[in-house]
Amino acid sequence: MLTGMHVAIIGGDARQLEVIRKLMELDARLSLVGFDQLDHGFAGVTKMKIHEVDFHEVDAIILPVHGTSMDGEIQTVFSNEKMTFTEELLRQTPMHCTVYSGITNDYLDRVVKSVGRKHVQLFERDDVAIYNSIPTAEGTIMMVIQHTDVTIHGSRVAVLGLGRVGMTVARTFAALGAKVKVGARRSEHLARIAEMALEPFHLNDLEQHVKDIDVCINTIPHPIVTASVIAKMPAHTLIIDLASKPGGTDFRYAEKRGIQALLAPGLPGIVAPKTAGQIVANVLAQLLSADLKKRKENKK
Ligand code: NAP
Repeated sequence: MLTGMHVAIIGGDARQLEVIRKLMELDARLSLVGFDQLDHGFAGVTKMKIHEVDFHEVDAIILPVHGTSMDGEIQTVFSNEKMTFTEELLRQTPMHCTVYSGITNDYLDRVVKSVGRKHVQLFERDDVAIYNSIPTAEGTIMMVIQHTDVTIHGSRVAVLGLGRVGMTVARTFAALGAKVKVGARRSEHLARIAEMALEPFHLNDLEQHVKDIDVCINTIPHPIVTASVIAKMPAHTLIIDLASKPGGTDFRYAEKRGIQALLAPGLPGIVAPKTAGQIVANVLAQLLSADLKKRKENKK
């Protein structure tokens, strides 16, 4: 239980509703900022403006999954209130106050570091990334169906990268009957791909391996699907780039060659916001409980 813990949830999208629900169940004291247009009446939860929060007694701040913009703005889909996450605001919090977000950027890192508070990036955690890979793979299936005129079953699919997303995507497409090959650079990854009964290839040989594919799904956040790789693909190839912005594809060249290439960020929040919210909520509940327990023990 989180009885006695004061958590400020500032901004976000539909995923935060699951966080609110979960933390309410656990009896946390919640201050919701940037939710004034939210119809859902969460009983016992206070909606307030950012300047109304008494940050001196806030034990944890939960920011949107994307953290802040590069100039500190906190986005919310439930309010028109303009909110900025600043050093002045964070400085008011107790030393033990922890900031949670999905990802970070230079601005957020700088603010948190300058004030010396702990910052947890939930999406860096293996458990969150692996759970999130499930709606990501489902979203990828949706996109491939929408942008091709043949079945996934029987299609030749190249997945680039065997990280948390790549592994789930490769396995899911194979389960649908696609002929999946996976490109990686580490020998243990190549071994794992073979163990999964998929076709492994080294990324050094990428150009050779895209000559006969229908779909290329990139998960590598590095320029990998270069102009020379795209030049070798059949003209009908669909490229879906899942890697974080700006992706790993030369989109300019793909367009020039007439190859359909789509950057597809944030699929979990698009195709399954409730599940994506629950993934974040469950991990947050564990982390906040552990934090509360530790502070109680330190007080003894
Ligand atoms: P991950 O577990 O770190 O996997 C990344 C993969 O890329 C690894 O196989 C890694 O191989 C490879 N890689 C990295 N840099 C490389 C390079 N320079 N050359 C060759 N291979 C390289 O990451 P993940 O959790 O799978 O996420 C992958 C990407 O998808 C991230 O950018 C993430 O933000 C994004 N993502 C997107 C969505 C969406 O909805 N589109 C959802 C979730 C995640 P090594 O082990 O050899 O380094």
